Amino acid sequence: MRIDRFISNNSCYSRKDVRKLISQRRVTIDDLRVVSVSSRVTAEAVVRLDDEIVEARGERYFMLHKPAGYLSASSDGHHQLVFDLLTDEDCSELHVAGRLDLDTTGLLLISSDGQWSHRVTSPKKKVGKCYRVTAADPVTDDYVQQFAEGVYLRYDDVTTRPAEFVITGSHEGLLTIHEGRYHQVKRMFAALGNRVEELHRESIGLLPLDDGLAPGEYRALTSEEVALF
Ligand code: URA
Repeated sequence: MRIDRFISNNSCYSRKDVRKLISQRRVTIDDLRVVSVSSRVTAEAVVRLDDEIVEARGERYFMLHKPAGYLSASSDGHHQLVFDLLTDEDCSELHVAGRLDLDTTGLLLISSDGQWSHRVTSPKKKVGKCYRVTAADPVTDDYVQQFAEGVYLRYDDVTTRPAEFVITGSHEGLLTIHEGRYHQVKRMFAALGNRVEELHRESIGLLPLDDGLAPGEYRALTSEEVALF
């Protein structure tokens, strides 16, 4: 990790502050004075600021069973935030890795580790997000092919990437997408003339929502789960 990120992650200083501290020659890595913000910090390195050791706080990773009615973005002043459900945590450094709409339920990943979240959400990584969709009108066999070929989203002027759809009932199916556009699943169904009535995220990549978590409950990820991304 770069020294500027390491110090800003593990202290009250912003990256801009860290640049200044470095130019004032107040930072060392393994007793060597740091002169560049892009110097790298290894896991074993000892970083000091004004002779005080800067300890790595350690990143945090959680899964939450998001209930409907909670915002996973910043506050709109009307709704509660998903962070309100993380009752035992200091949420100041946590962010959501892949938002869900207010009315969508299911697996939400929350972390302090920006690089990890990037690997979860970046379309380049092509991590599959699997949603259980309940639609207003019946779903038909041709949905499977249309989603596999990609559907055109007029507002973005793009065709969605190939997605897998498995029909599980007259109005229901499991849709796996490998990107994360705004309201993507709802817009994909709208493009086929249907409407999503209920949307629930079942899994992200190889990580399923823990079925022991009731809506509103959360737990820390295990190190094996963290290493999936
Ligand atoms: N697609 C949507 O339309 N909404 C979500 O919350 C997630 C994916």
